[in-house]
Amino acid sequence: MQGDNDQLASFWMPFTANRSYKAHPRQLVAASGMYYQSGDGRRILDGTSGLWCSNAGHCRPEIAEAIAKAATTLDFAPTFQLGHPLPFELAQRLAALMPEGLDRIFFTNSGSESVDTALKIALAVQRAKGQGTRTRLIGRERGYHGVGFGGISVGGIVSNRRTWPGLPGTDHLRHTHDLARNAFTRGFPAHGAELADDLQRLVDLHGAETIAAVIVEPMAGSTGVLIPPAGYLQRLREICDRHGIILIFDEVITAFGRVGAATAAEAWGVTPDIITMAKGLTNAAVPMGAVAVKRDLHDAVLESVPGGIELFHGYTYSGHPLASAAGLATLDLYAREGLFERANELAGYWEDAAHSLKGRRHIIDIRTIGLVAGIELEPRPGAPTARAMELFHAAFDSGLLVRATGDIIALSPPLIVEKAEIDAMFGKLAELLDRID
Ligand code: PMP
Repeated sequence: MQGDNDQLASFWMPFTANRSYKAHPRQLVAASGMYYQSGDGRRILDGTSGLWCSNAGHCRPEIAEAIAKAATTLDFAPTFQLGHPLPFELAQRLAALMPEGLDRIFFTNSGSESVDTALKIALAVQRAKGQGTRTRLIGRERGYHGVGFGGISVGGIVSNRRTWPGLPGTDHLRHTHDLARNAFTRGFPAHGAELADDLQRLVDLHGAETIAAVIVEPMAGSTGVLIPPAGYLQRLREICDRHGIILIFDEVITAFGRVGAATAAEAWGVTPDIITMAKGLTNAAVPMGAVAVKRDLHDAVLESVPGGIELFHGYTYSGHPLASAAGLATLDLYAREGLFERANELAGYWEDAAHSLKGRRHIIDIRTIGLVAGIELEPRPGAPTARAMELFHAAFDSGLLVRATGDIIALSPPLIVEKAEIDAMFGKLAELLDRID
């Protein structure tokens, strides 16, 4: 590519229409608290915590200082057959935040790695328990579990599944999105708990002795803020228990305060066997993910291997010093500022503000839980997703960052958001909805 935008040519951007982006580049060059600064010098209110990840707001000095200290003390040390103190400390702190029993922590560098790690751990656990025939992994339609081969295989994103070969031996529960029965519900949708019984259908179809694990996002974020029907997750838990199936919650988005507690598992009172995390773990200042595992599952794997390496898996950067330091400073910040409780306290105000858009042009559903909102637009005839994309661009150009996914606008602001900023977000969207096609 030649011409004015030459300096943009080399970076092959992820999940981006590279040609149209590079024809009209929009850039962020700085950030602080609730705001980004755009390349053309404007303040952009961050309605999405970056990409669901900067839960304490941007460029928090406490985190920056912790990273700088680690970078100048011990920039890197292996965690294969060696160790350094920070990840041990962080694992212990993280274990204390997890639901009762999930106190063994494996570190990764991203959500995708956490998912593939969790799936491997589930297989290892089943093998360790003498259940080696259990190799099938079950996900859910409209699930997003990152981009590893495991994650795309259990995920239910149609483009992912059509573009890449997946792992053999996966299957999917039906999704729970039901506009006909649940549109404009506040809180948990009343209808759809019975969809959890789809797991029983898969057990009947394949045999429980072939099924290792089920993975779901307690709330599907990336595919449009799909909140679980009341009772759905409880029912899934019961069916897993009945059939010896490991239940994995992918909490890459929901962990660290997004739904008003450390995890959705805690907030909603359903305890899985494994939880995957990333994003908010370090406030996104350094990439890091983690997998929390029930102690008895961890112990089963360790005991099943008489000597040597029990889990043949790991990353060069598992427990990286800079990421661990960022994680510790982030957890301190969340606790000191009571940000999970804050999300909980603001949730009602947030819900009312989101629902104030009801009746505006194009809107066919509004969903919120904790500090998340999904605003579903009627697809433009012949051009699905175009309307949400236009709204995303219009919002950015007028100083608000939202996320467009399909025909849904998703919002997930940093948990430090003030009521006036909540009003500004939905006020801006109201104004733009009247303007777009
Ligand atoms: N799982 C879930 C539920 C996610 O939302 C995401 C990212 N949005 C991922 C996994 C993948 O995370 P990453 O992009 O860090 O690999």
